[in-house]
Amino acid sequence: MSTTVVSESTTSLTARDPIFDELGFPKDPNNLYLQTVATMLEAADVIDLRHRVKIILAQPKNEIMVHFPVRMDDGHHRLFKGYRVQHNNALGPYKGGLRFHETVNLDDVKSLALLMTMKCSLVRVPFGGGKGGVKVNPREHSAGEMERITRRFCSAIMGMIGPEYDIPAPDVGSNAQYMAWFADTYMMSNEGKDALDGLRVVTGKPVEFGGSLGREKATGQGVVDTLVELLPEVGLNVQGMRVSVLGYGNVGSWTARILHDMGAKIVAAADHTGAIRDDRGLDAHKLAEHVVANGGVRGYQGEAISTDEFYKTPVDVLVPAALEQMIGEREARMIDAKVVVEGANAPTTPAGDRVFNSRGIEVIPAILANAGGVTVSYFEWVQNKTSSYWDIEQVDRELNRHMVMAARRTVLARQRYKVDLRTAAYIAALDHIGKAYAVRGIFP
Ligand code: NAD
Repeated sequence: MSTTVVSESTTSLTARDPIFDELGFPKDPNNLYLQTVATMLEAADVIDLRHRVKIILAQPKNEIMVHFPVRMDDGHHRLFKGYRVQHNNALGPYKGGLRFHETVNLDDVKSLALLMTMKCSLVRVPFGGGKGGVKVNPREHSAGEMERITRRFCSAIMGMIGPEYDIPAPDVGSNAQYMAWFADTYMMSNEGKDALDGLRVVTGKPVEFGGSLGREKATGQGVVDTLVELLPEVGLNVQGMRVSVLGYGNVGSWTARILHDMGAKIVAAADHTGAIRDDRGLDAHKLAEHVVANGGVRGYQGEAISTDEFYKTPVDVLVPAALEQMIGEREARMIDAKVVVEGANAPTTPAGDRVFNSRGIEVIPAILANAGGVTVSYFEWVQNKTSSYWDIEQVDRELNRHMVMAARRTVLARQRYKVDLRTAAYIAALDHIGKAYAVRGIFP
């Protein structure tokens, strides 16, 4: 299955905000960063957010780009490109994942950093937004090469991050092992001094090395917590609910496994290797094991189907949990679902969104639905800071509380301003940041 970048008409960035011209933004309707800023500014306009806050949020504070050499297994050296974008820290240290993927580029990292600012504000964790990544395809490298790439990237950016300033985490293509290499490199850089403090430089670490129980499944758990809170709004019940999942990595597989255990039926799954369907319901746990063993969903039981057939499969809930911009106008027209809950960041293009709106398909937006990961990352950071460890019940309880409150904030904003859930979620996030800027003022 390949990523679909849908060509959008120039009107898709609806009334182009004057701030686009003020800041000299290019006119490219397919650009994810411009789409993300446009969505944010639309919500900002609904609540008359002050102009100065809008221009601050329309650009990241810092954009860091590094190039670093790494020795390959055959002895030759390759130069890699890495990014760290620090979008906003009005509410706390920058926070956001590190992506290891061959398509990583500055504009996408900027978009993801902006989304992190919104997400942290919406769930009220005291963090700002950041994001980073390395342009590399991990599937083309040995574990040893990936370890050296991770450590060398850490050393290239370590002067510009820190446990009280900017705290990375895993994202697409990285996992707890990468975070362990990253934290170890950071901690060794000061000859082991302040080691405990250094541990907090990343979250999403293995449980044996300062990680939190429940972090691995946290984003999926948060997707489920949000969905369950909002299901009564759409008249659905988890028991027997038909679900399809696009992307069966961390977010997709955990969402599927938790829903499966709650009595939902996972009827279709798709990833970069292909798509499968089984109307009797796939065993989400066995499918996760198959993906680990075989690199993707292809070859698992059920009927092998095309991408279009995947989208057309009738379901109650579709969970996009792969990459950005995968659902454009064409896909949104094919999708046969009552609810789309965005596990991935920005999976729906503005044109896709308009189709969903016109067809009455409810979209639970990413900044709400997938905020569980950063929420448990915050819990990990707090546990490291206080040298204390929570049991899984405490993690799940606190996560659920944050997700439910964020969902309620979003629903309240929707009722008050008569907007869709996406705009409402941005409003709930922007309102909080706007208030912080109102009391802080702008230096000097
Ligand atoms: P992952 O690397 O574990 O999984 C990514 C999945 O996407 C894989 O199943 C892969 O096969 C699939 N995929 C990649 N390219 C595809 C294509 N062209 N067509 C179909 N499927 C494709 O990543 P993840 O951590 O699960 O992240 C998925 C999304 O969720 C990303 O948007 C990420 O930013 C977002 N997210 C992740 C977390 C987290 O805690 N991991 C938190 C919040 C948001």
